[in-house]
Amino acid sequence: MSKLSNIVILTGAGVSAESGLATFRGADGLWEGHRVEDVASPEGFARDPALVQHFYNLRRAALKTVVPNAAHKAIAELQQRWSAGTVTLITQNVDDLHERAGSPSVLHMHGELLKVRCLRCETVHTWHNDITPDLECMSCKKAGVLRPDIVWFGEMPYLMDDINPALATADLFAAIGTSGNVYPAAGFVREARRFGARTVEINIEPSGVSSAFDEHRIGPASLAVTDWVAELLGDQNGG
Ligand code: NAD
Repeated sequence: MSKLSNIVILTGAGVSAESGLATFRGADGLWEGHRVEDVASPEGFARDPALVQHFYNLRRAALKTVVPNAAHKAIAELQQRWSAGTVTLITQNVDDLHERAGSPSVLHMHGELLKVRCLRCETVHTWHNDITPDLECMSCKKAGVLRPDIVWFGEMPYLMDDINPALATADLFAAIGTSGNVYPAAGFVREARRFGARTVEINIEPSGVSSAFDEHRIGPASLAVTDWVAELLGDQNGG
């Protein structure tokens, strides 16, 4: 293998599945019983803000009941111990399990459950509790104008100015627990390949963009990611 310096990792809901957080497209095609267009689109929010706020209030509360699993921990260990170059962690997840596992840097391209955004003054604040109709924006003090700081379908993903250069300089790109159905994230593998990266997919089953990857590691993330990280760190240390 040619010299491996820069690693880019993209994670999706599958990396948090073994912690007990439901993936987006479960067997029923629903997210926690809801059609995704009802709870993850600006149109859904405009139609029924109370339902959408309630949905994310439950997701935010659920974070308090779960802990990072071995896959989150292995990724954090790789970020901490990789000395041959950079490890960029991009996640589509809105949970905070990468941070709690010890990841020093996480690019949340789809936002974060523990942040709220003011529709009036655009300020983003950390928020661990429910968003209620009488809750005031911590900056402009107006009530009823806060929404989850989540990127919904039809909205622009965050941090693309950091993500694109990382993809362009990656030697290795890994997609972990993501279905390859949501763009632009699903296109990252082709982007990284175009710039010469080797690509690996880690998933419990082949994803929708599986054919774009050089290598496939099929298995639950807790095992497959742990093995993959051990191999990378072993190679780095000359093992
Ligand atoms: P997805 O639900 O569309 O796909 C999940 C993928 O994970 C599937 O390919 C599945 O085969 C795989 N998977 C399931 N269990 C696994 C395991 N134990 N080990 C390895 N792989 C496993 O998720 P997505 O591709 O991330 O896209 C969905 C969107 O849903 C994202 O934008 C995200 O913001 C949102 N979402 C986030 C969370 C979260 O933050 N935990 C949870 C649900 C949905």
